[in-house]
Amino acid sequence: MRKIIEIAVSPGQAAGEKSIRAAVARSLGIQQDELSHVRLIKRSVDSRSRRVLIRLRLEAVLHEDGPYETAIRKSYLNVAGKTRVVIAGAGPAGLFAALRMIELGLKPVILERGKDVHNRKTDIALLNRKQLVDPDSNYCFGEGGAGTFSDGKLYTRSNKRGDAGRIMDTLVYHGADPDIRVDAHPHIGSDKLPAIVENIRNTILQSGGEIHFGSRVSRLVIREGRLKAFADQNGNLTEGKAFILATGHSARDIPSLFLENDLPLEFKPFALGVRVEHPQSLIDSIQYHSKTRNPFLPAASYSLVHQASGRGVFSFCMCPGGIIVPSATEDGQVVVNGMSNSRRNSPFANSGIVVTIDAADLKKYSSHGVLKGLKFQEEIEKISYLAGGSCQRAPAQRLTDFIREKISDGLPDTSYHPGITNYPVHQLFPGFITQRLQEAFLAFDRKMKGFLTSEAVVLAAESRTSSPVRIPRDPQTMAYIAIENLYPCGEGAGYAGGIVSSAMDGEAVAEAIAGKLL
Ligand SMILES: Cc1cc2nc3c(=O)[nH]c(=O)nc-3n(C[C@H](O)[C@H](O)[C@H](O)COP(=O)(O)OP(=O)(O)OC[C@H]3O[C@@H](n4cnc5c(N)ncnc54)[C@H](O)[C@@H]3O)c2cc1C
Repeated sequence: MRKIIEIAVSPGQAAGEKSIRAAVARSLGIQQDELSHVRLIKRSVDSRSRRVLIRLRLEAVLHEDGPYETAIRKSYLNVAGKTRVVIAGAGPAGLFAALRMIELGLKPVILERGKDVHNRKTDIALLNRKQLVDPDSNYCFGEGGAGTFSDGKLYTRSNKRGDAGRIMDTLVYHGADPDIRVDAHPHIGSDKLPAIVENIRNTILQSGGEIHFGSRVSRLVIREGRLKAFADQNGNLTEGKAFILATGHSARDIPSLFLENDLPLEFKPFALGVRVEHPQSLIDSIQYHSKTRNPFLPAASYSLVHQASGRGVFSFCMCPGGIIVPSATEDGQVVVNGMSNSRRNSPFANSGIVVTIDAADLKKYSSHGVLKGLKFQEEIEKISYLAGGSCQRAPAQRLTDFIREKISDGLPDTSYHPGITNYPVHQLFPGFITQRLQEAFLAFDRKMKGFLTSEAVVLAAESRTSSPVRIPRDPQTMAYIAIENLYPCGEGAGYAGGIVSSAMDGEAVAEAIAGKLL
């Protein structure tokens, strides 16, 4: 007999298999030896009341002997001699498109501008230590894309664009902790992601797919309305039957490949703002209603949203126990983002706090047409670079001074490795951003008493939240509206935001191509 039950236990009880079995038996009014198996389906932290509980949804199997199957099975075919589909970009969208094509019997050929994950780590270390930005190998570019050192929060549960559960299973199959299948807020950690990306590469290569690093798609070779090949920076052509463009939202050279061929693109609303950093202990004490965190509880997080003068202001990519990282893709820009390791044990909590921006806010940039959002992002990143004063140092201000519009008298410690420069960040943005951020911070403090504190610091600029350009697709075929064998995909094309939704979009595009070619 099988029963689905829900129980709430203390954090300590939730940490042990024996104590969970005991709680399940108690809840069912049976002896523990009547339980053959207990399977965790979902786990979440409930901190709404003073006594923080862990809510568990479980399957209890009673009086059934024999094995209990939980292994994930995958069937990757040998595609060595099969129809070639060329993919630009080895981020989550490109890699998951490749894996899905292998399951369906197509051969993926990936062109990736950056390096393999091992060599990419060296460039990331140089970026942090010497502040040297390699334009092809950084926090956004290289094997695994922006997903590799991305923290790996996998919060998307929406199945609108595909099957989020399949993405989790594929990640677990390639080495992620199986807990991501049950946690309400699954997280992998930047320390674990590189090995998973490497395992995905091995699956692709062992199945007969190809991956070419150091190959930057620089031209679209179009003949009679169809894409014939991607040309790389050296003019080498890679031909295929269909092409996927999964180059992410930091590939700012991609829109020009369209515009130089008079091909249509669209402006897309996006969001931009600052990254705020608090001591993790402060966020723990607010969220868990206690001076010290129970050792069985994870570093506390938050998710905040406020409507300020008709625009959404929201927390973005919140990293408990994390660090702020330099995410620029070129010299002369400062871009901040956040990540954490699997243990989330840094003493800091950081989050983007960003304002939604649409075309009406960008009248000053209207001469740039569909690229107006991109030009605005670039300008803010350049101003942040100059305000930081040197290499990748970020301009920063105490949160309370950002509200009072006052220069800070010294800055608190930060996790941001390249360092911070005392700067009136409230002056760095146009008024429509600063004022909405100020209003939202006051509202956040009403929701989370203590959020607004001089111990917190804001850093500029959090500018790469999503793509400011969309490459329009036919909703039925998923192909680009102007070239029927080109498939824009993932975050850069404007169809996803985050690892899971980009991966799902990759799978969906692969299925659309297979439907056409097989
Ligand atoms: C520091 C950081 C933390 C993040 N944290 C999270 C998180 O916790 N959870 C989450 O869901 N999301 C997070 N994100 C966002 C997430 O990483 C992206 O949403 C996701 O990676 C987008 O996937 P993608 O495949 O569409 O594009 P990308 O991951 O951007 O991949 C694009 C790939 O294309 C390559 N490329 C670019 N131009 C070319 C070209 N011309 N030719 C060939 N290759 C090219 C790039 O090198 C890159 O490998 C984070 C991002 C960053 C930077």
